[in-house]
Amino acid sequence: MNKHVVIIGAGAVGAMSAVHALRAGHRVTILEPETPGGEQASSYGNAGWLSSHSVIPPSEPGLWKKVPGFLLDPLGPLAIRWTYLPQVFPWLLRYMASGATRERVTVTARALRTLLADAPALHRELAEQAGVAHLIDDQGLLHVYPSRADFEAEGLAWEVRRSVGVHWQELSADELRLREPELHERYQFGVFVGEAGHCRSPGAYVAALVAHAVAGGAVSVQGRAIDFRIETGRLRAVCTDGAEIPCDAAVIAAGARSKALANKAGDRVALESERGYHVMIARPEGSPRTPMKVSDCAAVATLTEAGLSVAGQVEIASFDAAPNWRRAEILRDHALNIFPALPRDLPASRVRYWMGRRPSTPDGLPCIGRASASRDIIHAFGHGHVGLVGSARTGRLVGQLLSEQEPEISLEPFEARRFA
Ligand SMILES: Cc1cc2nc3c(=O)[nH]c(=O)nc-3n(C[C@H](O)[C@H](O)[C@H](O)COP(=O)(O)OP(=O)(O)OC[C@H]3O[C@@H](n4cnc5c(N)ncnc54)[C@H](O)[C@@H]3O)c2cc1C
Repeated sequence: MNKHVVIIGAGAVGAMSAVHALRAGHRVTILEPETPGGEQASSYGNAGWLSSHSVIPPSEPGLWKKVPGFLLDPLGPLAIRWTYLPQVFPWLLRYMASGATRERVTVTARALRTLLADAPALHRELAEQAGVAHLIDDQGLLHVYPSRADFEAEGLAWEVRRSVGVHWQELSADELRLREPELHERYQFGVFVGEAGHCRSPGAYVAALVAHAVAGGAVSVQGRAIDFRIETGRLRAVCTDGAEIPCDAAVIAAGARSKALANKAGDRVALESERGYHVMIARPEGSPRTPMKVSDCAAVATLTEAGLSVAGQVEIASFDAAPNWRRAEILRDHALNIFPALPRDLPASRVRYWMGRRPSTPDGLPCIGRASASRDIIHAFGHGHVGLVGSARTGRLVGQLLSEQEPEISLEPFEARRFA
């Protein structure tokens, strides 16, 4: 049966869901209060990694020992707004617990691998269809370390990656120098993951996917979903800040804003906005040839269409708290240290900062599947650090659920009810 589907939110996950709902033959309305792919969305300014190997949850064994040091280091990768601590404390405890043992990390990695495998190819296919194939690169990603010992210190993560089928090539200092002549010589060891890829402009990519959906018949409506009208378990309409939209199905893809909507759909989920920042340096004098994660700064450097992006940082704060741009300046300082050719007196006119909110669950797994209050409402949120790479298969899964087909991977690990 062809349905009228309302997709709530036009970030990467909503855009992919819209494309796949259309492919499955449904009538689609995309509901978004702001510009699809705009700066409000986490999908706009992320690092663009299509890292099918990003299967390790953010919390790992022993993290709790490192947290005090991170928090005391003003340049460190983690910050908490203390006024928000009482509210977020239960989430933080679950976050730490979910990565506390190797077994738990492995369970998460196995589930994430099913979601992320083949992601670069899935993105390339969609980008071609949307006429923006040039935005997708599938030439691999790099991790760089000061020394082999620093790589070995992350041994558990790499062993778990290997156990789920990730392969990589290790690079000596000379090999790394040949590949990355502009990288600071402090970095003496590299890991190249050939199966991965990246997106050159995530915001432009999402906007193009939404435009492609609209060209294919989707209707774009400006507005904010606030509730659902459900009668005897069947969805009748999405209630918005304007008029109700009558429909047969809805997809909650509102990123870090999804918690309240999931609640209305019968599921209490542990979802927090885990903020991150980027600095964008226009016309950079130094940059990576292959996008790279720089281990000692926990930052990702990527040459994008707009310039050199250095993204990272985890800041736990309430959704509406003002950005702390010092966190982005830290990333700018990292950029200067990673690529020595960048001038110390970088003019402010060439530097832009951005803050985004990762929609994060404590176990590092998104919520994908049917809602408790009505099987017509589909959850598609909570992708945390892997929402761009994971959006392609999530869109396919949404299409399959809407069409009452068996999902191509097990959705059990992604059930929202796991937080009940
Ligand atoms: C610094 C940083 C770097 C990152 N790097 C990467 C990376 O390299 N690779 C990767 O895969 N992921 C990365 N991520 C994570 C990734 O950006 C997110 O997981 C992903 O963008 C989430 O997509 P989304 O569509 O769920 O949410 P969003 O992109 O946030 O989109 C949600 C949309 O819903 C809309 N919305 C909100 N409320 C409502 C409502 N009530 N009704 C209707 N619409 C609503 C919003 O306006 C928004 O447009 C990074 C994140 C950050 C912050």
